[in-house]
Amino acid sequence: RRDDALRAAHEPAVTRDGTTVLVGANVGSAADAAAAVGADLAGLVRTEFCFLDRHDAPDVDEQEAAYRAIAEAMGGQRITLRTLDVGGDKPLDYLPMPPEANPFLGVRGLRLALARPQLLADQLQAVVRVAHDHPVDVMFPMVADVHELTAARQALDDAVAAVGRGRPDGLRVGIMVEIPATALKSAAFAPHVDFLSIGTNDLTQYALAAERGNDAVAAIGDALDPGVLALIAATSRGAGDDVLVAVCGELAGDERAAALLIGLGVRELSVAPAAVAGVKQAVRAVDLDAARELAAAALGSPDARAVRGLLG
Ligand code: PEP
Ligand code: MG
Repeated sequence: RRDDALRAAHEPAVTRDGTTVLVGANVGSAADAAAAVGADLAGLVRTEFCFLDRHDAPDVDEQEAAYRAIAEAMGGQRITLRTLDVGGDKPLDYLPMPPEANPFLGVRGLRLALARPQLLADQLQAVVRVAHDHPVDVMFPMVADVHELTAARQALDDAVAAVGRGRPDGLRVGIMVEIPATALKSAAFAPHVDFLSIGTNDLTQYALAAERGNDAVAAIGDALDPGVLALIAATSRGAGDDVLVAVCGELAGDERAAALLIGLGVRELSVAPAAVAGVKQAVRAVDLDAARELAAAALGSPDARAVRGLLG
């Protein structure tokens, strides 16, 4: 039975009607990647976790080694390297930030990277070096505006030029959808990306004005709120047929939410390593038509509690 379970974990997750849904792992280290048994990819590499204990910024060589180790631990599966996502709740010793009254609404994620071009340049050069040898996606966090994406893509082109070996085959580019306006504007981003990955942790926090990690408002900040689900639906609509829509926030790891997310148009779920096998099993039980009906009912529900009732 153990062998059967292991085999099932490694097989693709295909719905009853034949729709493949990628199930990835969220990782912050090579050890996490090694634990991601059966993952189709690393759908989110939180690169800021690689250097949390540092007092000085890692150089290009050090970053290359860390990302290469993750790629190797994934055994040839694609890795989605998210550029530095600090600020807000995530301070870094080697990146002192001026105090902000509202850090979650301040200079965080890609905003910070664009404000520190050398930091972003070093990171992207490390990403490009690894992408010459492994299948790599690069993903930019906390994008609010198409011009930020244009600037980030320019930085990536500059990094390709600096490495000097041409553009790596298979280097794909995506953004995280974590800001409600970005979800609603997804059609404007779609021509410039290969994929959109919805960060339901931040998207929920911003949609419901309920700080993540603040227990007093945790019940309000529910990713199953129909307003959050409407933002996921809007992201899929704007993405069109050519741009893959993923979810890499906590909601993706909830087995009961798999059918709902698939019904909303999501075709990749990236979850904690330990949740990969269970989410794959949940995907296999899904029927796409029924999932679409479920999604429609959820979008028409008054609150998260009612949505949860639909999930059974
Ligand atoms: C998210 O916001 O949902 C996400 C996946 O990113 P993080 O949790 O690292 O902010
Ligand atoms: Mg986030």
